[in-house]
Amino acid sequence: MRVNAYAAPAAGRPLTPTTIERRDVGSGDVLIEIEYAGICHSDIHTVNGDWGPQPFPVVPGHEIVGVVAEVGSEVTAHRVGDRVGVGCMVGSCGKCANCRNGDEQYCLDGMVPTYAGTDRDGTTTQGGYSTHVVVDAGFVLRVPDGIDPATAAPLLCAGITTYSPLRRWGAGPGKRVAVVGLGGLGHMAVQLAAAMGAEVTVLSQSLKKQEDGLRLGATDYFATSDPETFARLAGRFDLILNTVSAGIDVDAYLSLLAVDGALVNVGAPAEPLSLHAMSLIAGRRSYAGSMIGGIAETQEMLDFCAVHGIGAEVEVIPADQVDEAYARVLASDVRYRFVIDAATLR
Ligand code: NAP
Ligand code: ZN
Ligand code: ZN
Repeated sequence: MRVNAYAAPAAGRPLTPTTIERRDVGSGDVLIEIEYAGICHSDIHTVNGDWGPQPFPVVPGHEIVGVVAEVGSEVTAHRVGDRVGVGCMVGSCGKCANCRNGDEQYCLDGMVPTYAGTDRDGTTTQGGYSTHVVVDAGFVLRVPDGIDPATAAPLLCAGITTYSPLRRWGAGPGKRVAVVGLGGLGHMAVQLAAAMGAEVTVLSQSLKKQEDGLRLGATDYFATSDPETFARLAGRFDLILNTVSAGIDVDAYLSLLAVDGALVNVGAPAEPLSLHAMSLIAGRRSYAGSMIGGIAETQEMLDFCAVHGIGAEVEVIPADQVDEAYARVLASDVRYRFVIDAATLR
């Protein structure tokens, strides 16, 4: 099936309309008519070559929501007409220790990324900036009724990427959580951590988005451009989630952790991050990373969002505005996720 899409033809080049081939619906597959696709900063890192060479042309998009249009003969979990979502992966071996443990994103054989990856048939995967996608049913999530589909799309990456470490590092009542960067991931982290019962602080470059941060559930908001912030908050947090897409002064943020606190990096800048060992030693602190979340955990996150009335704050755009949207994301001018209306691709 040939479908319309938007693709980056080469590293750093503007995205342009194109058509791509989607495979036939196999016995275990689901054909999804895409309604919305979120723009994640990872899409921009990928097409700009921040993370190394890519198999161009690349159709980005791993925050996909749509409606099931067809299912294979062996699919029982999804039916035609269901609202579903697809996140950052569309396959994994299913057999290794990590897959069996529900950590498909850490598959020892390598999970199949939703775009710019090698699919099980040897072709290159193409993402959600498109009208349709065919995905193995095991990697298709149910979008609960009651979450608007446009606001649900960013949950498939920004939502799970922040939910998973918040859960793992115990965000909840009595815990002080700081979120660094109020962008797509950051604004989800604030809502999720607050719903989990934690006390949430936003650490943003400026106070420009303070009102939003407090409305989303933070109790405190500080500007990291103000050196006073680091002196005032020294030793305060149990968990700091760094969502910044660029380099940060890791030592400065580690100094904000209480004894046994953890700084968890989900931001994935192009350049290496460095730190002094003493920043960890003095305070028995940890520095960790986390990548999206497993499939079962992603479903748990979607259900959690439905129960708590959580969704992304989105600006819905037509596909031909994707380049402007990229420029605004790079300028930290996003409130708080651009979402492509796939109807504009038909
Ligand atoms: P985003 O919407 O652009 O948000 C990033 C935020 O970081 C900005 O809004 C800004 O917040 C802050 N920021 C940007 N540049 C900065 C700089 N030079 N110095 C200090 N702060 C800066 O991006 P996103 O989509 O949330 O993604 C964030 C990062 O997470 C990206 O690197 C992305 O690739 C990565 N990511 C990782 C995973 C994973 O599995 N680990 C999944 C998805 C995304 P303020 O204006 O509030 O300062
Ligand atoms: Zn993403
Ligand atoms: Zn595996």
